[in-house]
Amino acid sequence: MSTLGPGVARTGTARPGSPGATRPCPHCKTTILESASVCPACKHHLRFDSAPAQARASVPLQVEGTIRHPPNEAAWEYSMVLSIRNERGEEIDRKVIGVGALQAGQSRTFSLAVEVTEARGAKLAKGLLKR
Ligand SMILES: [Zn+2]
Repeated sequence: MSTLGPGVARTGTARPGSPGATRPCPHCKTTILESASVCPACKHHLRFDSAPAQARASVPLQVEGTIRHPPNEAAWEYSMVLSIRNERGEEIDRKVIGVGALQAGQSRTFSLAVEVTEARGAKLAKGLLKR
């Protein structure tokens, strides 16, 4: 899959077993965290072993908004674009999540949620906290 624009660094370069390591979901092929027990895209359960309960996810960022098409205007087309930037403002991921059209009187609600979990069992990389 190559939805990244030019000059955009790939995410998911972390080694297996380290924080940020990824794998494809066996159900929907979305790139997900290796540590995920439920696919955030298709919501299939991925693990049935009784490994230590995964750290509970928190959602430090959640945004939702609705766009309503005015009743007497021509149809609109929309593109929902999502980008992720690092602490230096560099774009590390960019995706078009969905496109579509709005006819008179229709509306669409767009939601964004960023889930975070503590990376259990992973050792803090040496020097990570140094400046
Ligand atoms: Zn999936």
